[in-house]
Amino acid sequence: MADKVTKGSCNCGEFTYQYTGEPLSIAMCFCKPCQKTAGPNGSVNIIVPNDASGKSVHCNFCVTCHTYVTVNVDAMEGVTVIKSGTIDGDVLGTPPGAEIYTRSRPAWCESKEGRAEFTGAFAA
Ligand SMILES: [Zn+2]
Ligand SMILES: [Zn+2]
Repeated sequence: MADKVTKGSCNCGEFTYQYTGEPLSIAMCFCKPCQKTAGPNGSVNIIVPNDASGKSVHCNFCVTCHTYVTVNVDAMEGVTVIKSGTIDGDVLGTPPGAEIYTRSRPAWCESKEGRAEFTGAFAA
């Protein structure tokens, strides 16, 4: 069976992406930059390996509608972070397996039991 292809796009549809197979991780992130784009209650991010082009652009957003779609973070080399709200079709069916940057998580955002937690990025 062929690997599942997941596609996504910005609000206006001009910026699109796709990845094949399962992501490396799905993590709920409470870092300040995520809070500024997605709100204080955590941004659910899909983490996939970088494609071969090795782009080093940091925030990849649509120049037309300004939706943040993907992010590359220096602290997490070799991966691209996809803002999970941008996937098209069905909503994200798999819950996050980890929570990161919990040091800036609001006290009213309780963690789900069993989820791996990191006060910063994934343990280096
Ligand atoms: Zn757009
Ligand atoms: Zn973040």
